[in-house]
Amino acid sequence: MSSNLNQMNWVSRSLSAVWHPCTQMKQHESLPLIAITKGKGAWLYDDQGRVILDGISSWWTNLFGHANPRINQAICEQLEKIEHVMLAGFTHPPVVQLSEKLSALTQGNLGHAFYASDGASAVEIALKMSHHYWRHQNKPAKKKFVCLHNGYHGETLGALAVTDVAIFREAYGSLLQEVLTAPSPDARLAQDGETAEDVAKRAATDLETILSKEHQNIAAIIVEPLIQCAGQMAMYSPAYLRQLRVLCDRYEIHLIADEIAVGCGRTGKFFACEHAGIWPDFLTLSKGISGGYLPLSICLTTDTIYRAFYQDQTKHGFLHSHSYTGNPLACAAALACLEIFETDNVLEKNIERSKDLANAFAWAKIDPRIEHWRQQGMILAFDVRTGYLKNPNTFPREMFSASLQEGVLIRPIGNTIYVMPPYVLSTNETIELGQAVQRALEQVLA
Ligand SMILES: *Cc1c(COP(=O)(O)O)cnc(C)c1O
Repeated sequence: MSSNLNQMNWVSRSLSAVWHPCTQMKQHESLPLIAITKGKGAWLYDDQGRVILDGISSWWTNLFGHANPRINQAICEQLEKIEHVMLAGFTHPPVVQLSEKLSALTQGNLGHAFYASDGASAVEIALKMSHHYWRHQNKPAKKKFVCLHNGYHGETLGALAVTDVAIFREAYGSLLQEVLTAPSPDARLAQDGETAEDVAKRAATDLETILSKEHQNIAAIIVEPLIQCAGQMAMYSPAYLRQLRVLCDRYEIHLIADEIAVGCGRTGKFFACEHAGIWPDFLTLSKGISGGYLPLSICLTTDTIYRAFYQDQTKHGFLHSHSYTGNPLACAAALACLEIFETDNVLEKNIERSKDLANAFAWAKIDPRIEHWRQQGMILAFDVRTGYLKNPNTFPREMFSASLQEGVLIRPIGNTIYVMPPYVLSTNETIELGQAVQRALEQVLA
């Protein structure tokens, strides 16, 4: 087979055999599917010899570039020892070390790590554990969950129930548990000269109205600390998280911090909750924790929760499992990432990288067609004023395609353009990213 024929094949073979995620497959009649055959650093290489700068860390997972030699080596070394063993009745060094490290990163506040594979499963674990904890306290009525408008927590049925993004929920509404939805503290909702902190206070006051009425039936509230990522990168003041902690304590409700997207340094600190100086009762991690290498998710929790399950009867334990719980290769990748954070002073260096990012996208700050320019650490976003969009429905796809033509991968959400690059971009690569997005936007809006 000629290599050209082979190349053509990946896309057509994929379209006939692979059902791609989060995709209306019919759109691939006009939107080209891209076959990636190689990655290196922040760059993806396709089967046509094109190179693409990964501006969104491959769906927010990648931290230290593709084919990172140190993470590759850690996985290879672990592969020589043990690829997988069940975690019930057995343990292994990588899962022990990782759990200890995460506990230390929370200063022991969240000293117990329960493992799963995907982010949504970690959310399911937090929801189930919370309700089960209240049963242990003889409060079985505490079974409702509060979530925020515009929040996203994954797409399995439990996680989707606490998700408030219409397009993901619509078709499945009748399958989902009822939840209470509180206002989002999204700073873009400021009215009449309100600051981000004012919006946060207003949202917290509205939340308290719900909690004061319903707290006897509420197990937990789940939030994405600081940034509702899938909700168009809605950023909010850490004041909201501080108030949330107070309210959860006042009304005996668990706080679940879903840091699946915002954890692992994205916001400038390792955990986004650290910006508010609070710890939740449950903290979920996935995406970046394995450096974007392997499916790994974790629900961290407190001694108090753990001890409530520590009893004589089997059924009083937390009888939840996934086959690949705590996979050693995934844990080895995560340990390699945590080591890179330490040895390379990543959080400190990211301060410079986030300044680079701000400079590279300074053009958008002064463009009259753009509003709500915002940045938190390694995430930068802005909204194109809807009046300038020819067709709001097709804008994300057009922008995605135009950016690819310019050699960068971005994936706008609605009228929000954002970048969330891996922590390996050089200053020049960051400038390249900013310029390519600018050129693509000019084309799409022209
Ligand atoms: C991506 C995401 C999830 C779901 O993780 P999956 O691995 O896709 O199941 C949950 N919560 C947040 C905040 C996310 O961004």
